[in-house]
Amino acid sequence: MKILLMGPPGAGKGTQAEKLVERFGIPHISTGDMFRAAIKNGTELGVKAKSFMDAGQLVPDEVTIGIVRERLSQDDCRAGFLLDGFPRTVPQANALNETLDALNMRLDGVIDIQVAREKLIERLTGRRICRQCGATLHVVFNPPQQEGVCDKCSGELYQRSDDSRETAENRLDVYAAQTQPLIDYYQQQGLYQRINGEQPMSVVLEDICKALGRTV
Ligand SMILES: [Zn+2]
Repeated sequence: MKILLMGPPGAGKGTQAEKLVERFGIPHISTGDMFRAAIKNGTELGVKAKSFMDAGQLVPDEVTIGIVRERLSQDDCRAGFLLDGFPRTVPQANALNETLDALNMRLDGVIDIQVAREKLIERLTGRRICRQCGATLHVVFNPPQQEGVCDKCSGELYQRSDDSRETAENRLDVYAAQTQPLIDYYQQQGLYQRINGEQPMSVVLEDICKALGRTV
């Protein structure tokens, strides 16, 4: 099963990725992990990537693509993989297609987990942290018994500036602008599948498996 998983911040992509790799017994290939591994192992591409990152620059496509190609060529990807966070651009998607062709592989589906914008903002801004003990709560997923008060130590809960509405809106705008060309690209290829991410986690998983032609 060769899956490309997409979804905006807050859509629950990480959770579904975990469930899918477990269900299909495939490796989870995220760009972040791949970069870290390449850098840690000191591969030629890893060294290159690190030099750009250390200089605070974006890693160029050719380096990123090279790292993805190396990873997909490894034995554990023969039976499948779950790609997460790559491709981010149409040139990267083209390069991925070429790589898969060269490896005699084809994606089974591009899964996009969709959640309404207001819900995403609610999720992305809901985190609260205790000033006293550092506990993390969430107004939607893990609400404190009393609003604004830590369950453990009765300390005051606050919202980090990273979790502000403005930051959330900005992240979602950047994501949408970046992703629309990819959606068009995979729609044209007949691979794009939209999944309702506002359902319970297990139902989302079931819908993804159905979209991939596998029943749970
Ligand atoms: Zn506390």
